[in-house]
Amino acid sequence: MSGGLRLPGARPLYGGVRRQPHAACPRRPKFADCGTACDHSAGLGWMNNAMTITGRCLCGAVHWASSELPVVTRVCWCRDCQYLGAGSGTVNSCFRTSAFSSAGKTTDYFSVADSGNRMRRRFCRACGTPLFSEAETRPHLIFVRVGTFDEPGVARPALTMWTASAPIWACFDPGLPQVAGQPPPAA
Ligand SMILES: [Zn+2]
Ligand SMILES: [Zn+2]
Repeated sequence: MSGGLRLPGARPLYGGVRRQPHAACPRRPKFADCGTACDHSAGLGWMNNAMTITGRCLCGAVHWASSELPVVTRVCWCRDCQYLGAGSGTVNSCFRTSAFSSAGKTTDYFSVADSGNRMRRRFCRACGTPLFSEAETRPHLIFVRVGTFDEPGVARPALTMWTASAPIWACFDPGLPQVAGQPPPAA
């Protein structure tokens, strides 16, 4: 967890997300030329209002922002996600693309998921962090890997899916509903 989000004087905003002065943010140098998706470039601090959620890849070359909360966050144990999650499932927040922006170059990989959907998966071409996936049939939504959130605690999973594909040693949150395969569309 970044100490940058816990500076004295930081004011609570939304959930575990806090605002801090732009000048005090230790991440600022990494975002010096990061374009429109990052509020650092506008000198407004890493968030400019209570509903903006931000994130980035491991190296900082790709970053993103959403002006809306996720539609839903789900834990996925499909076989594809086990590749992306280094053996574990993945945690993904679904955002509306109309409220979402990203900056920085990604490498795209297209494949057909277990659900039958043709998916576009996007990775940072510098550090390889998986960031986004999009189903071609549902262009109004984008799925964001929660590991890329600046404040991952913001995302609260609501469901565990594809449990039938998980290895025998997988641990599921007993407090969440489980679906053996693909649940209905998020939105
Ligand atoms: Zn990167
Ligand atoms: Zn999956």
